[in-house]
Amino acid sequence: MLYHSTRSKEKTVTASQAILKGLSDDGGLFVPEAIPALDKSLTELSQMTYKEIAYEILKLYLTDFTKEELENCINKAYDTKFDTEEIVPLAEADGAYYLELFHGATIAFKDMALSILPHFMITAAKKNQVKNEIVILTATSGDTGKAALAGFADVAGTRIVVFYPKNGVSPIQEKQMVTQRGENTSVVGITGNFDDAQTGVKMIFSDKELEKEMDAKGFQFSSANSINIGRLVPQIVYYVYSYVKLLAEGKIKEGEKINVVVPTGNFGNILAAFYAKNMGLPIDKLICASNENKVLYDFFQTGTYDRNRQFILTSSPSMDILISSNLERLIYRIAGNDPDKNVALMHSLSQNGSYSITDEMRKELADFRGYYASEEETTDTIRDLYEKCGYVIDTHTAVAAAAYNKYKKETGDHTKTVIASTASPFKFSRSVMKAIAPDKAEMEEFALVDELSALAGVPVPKAVNELRTAPVVHDHIYDKSAMVDAVKAFLGM
Ligand SMILES: *Cc1c(COP(=O)(O)O)cnc(C)c1O
Repeated sequence: MLYHSTRSKEKTVTASQAILKGLSDDGGLFVPEAIPALDKSLTELSQMTYKEIAYEILKLYLTDFTKEELENCINKAYDTKFDTEEIVPLAEADGAYYLELFHGATIAFKDMALSILPHFMITAAKKNQVKNEIVILTATSGDTGKAALAGFADVAGTRIVVFYPKNGVSPIQEKQMVTQRGENTSVVGITGNFDDAQTGVKMIFSDKELEKEMDAKGFQFSSANSINIGRLVPQIVYYVYSYVKLLAEGKIKEGEKINVVVPTGNFGNILAAFYAKNMGLPIDKLICASNENKVLYDFFQTGTYDRNRQFILTSSPSMDILISSNLERLIYRIAGNDPDKNVALMHSLSQNGSYSITDEMRKELADFRGYYASEEETTDTIRDLYEKCGYVIDTHTAVAAAAYNKYKKETGDHTKTVIASTASPFKFSRSVMKAIAPDKAEMEEFALVDELSALAGVPVPKAVNELRTAPVVHDHIYDKSAMVDAVKAFLGM
């Protein structure tokens, strides 16, 4: 399996090279030459553990890794960092299946991919005789940052710099990041929003002069952002797992189609579901849920992607995004895998902040549905589900649940549905408490956490308990225009 850029097919790279580079030199995203088909039956897969299924998926994409290498990566990633052996439990509530992707080190779904990416990277570096130290640069809207820090901390041969919008993440998210240990880690708050952080990182990546300077000092950049193919592929695994789990439990019959609902920001998680579907997993509708930054909802409604709008800070900050980077992989595909068509649209996006796809391309999106939830609808959804079932979901998952309710109401479609539950409610405890017990929402951060634990009947996760006493070790703030200075300072350049 080889990979090429969404902006040119001329050069192909191996999976390990694509993982090391993150982004292609031409600014495009790496895509596999073809999406591989599952080579085991769903019934066979339904008898496997999460790790075994992970191997069955990864081997189809990372074909230049040996079986031993892949198994080693999988074993190091999906171990006791997860608080359940199942890795991703499936909880039934109010007629839907919540796929709990938040049982890893940082209690959000980013752990699913970022637990394994560092191991892919060191394996890939060895394979490609890389001598330089790998410097991971990451822009985060809150969850990626901590998950990447946790994944890379003290991994030999790597360093990591994380940029986050100083006023755009939750207090728990910020505390999680600024208390990160590890000599090889740096955390920088920037005066700007997530899109500024992401744009800044992309600019640093494409700076050829800097690349030379870095190489002379024995460093090279790579990305842990969701554009890295090494993040996309591990995310396919849990969609397959959720399907075969339902099959094993007799909730569905082999081949029966399910719908999938994904709370979406950068379009990575839902793209993984789309890949799963294209590998042969019986998924019918892919329901893309947005918060009030509903650029994707508008896109699915109209065929026009338009980022020219006000950026809204919501209670689901990990979805406060106006440029969904991973959408480029879908655009490339619906443009008939034509890089030139994709380049024209992406050029229009960077020049005008918008682009419109053709009617022909829109037809290719028939399986997608876009919905969005307002802040009020998000809160109402958390409360309703709690009152009805006693099940507490976080704000991001609530956006998805609200979207799903709207979809059901509009279509009457009662196909069995998996909702990607992307964060623990403990990560956004104040917003969650505002929904289920507003009179208690003003409590101090950790009292709030304890109260939530009592109400939900769920123990406080270790990741949150640790924060009670963890010292702050990162306090750098930079202007969004000076991100490169932060990197140079950390590397001693
Ligand atoms: C990152 C994140 C999302 C959005 O996922 P994308 O892959 O960027 O679409 C949703 N919910 C949570 C909790 C997240 O951390």
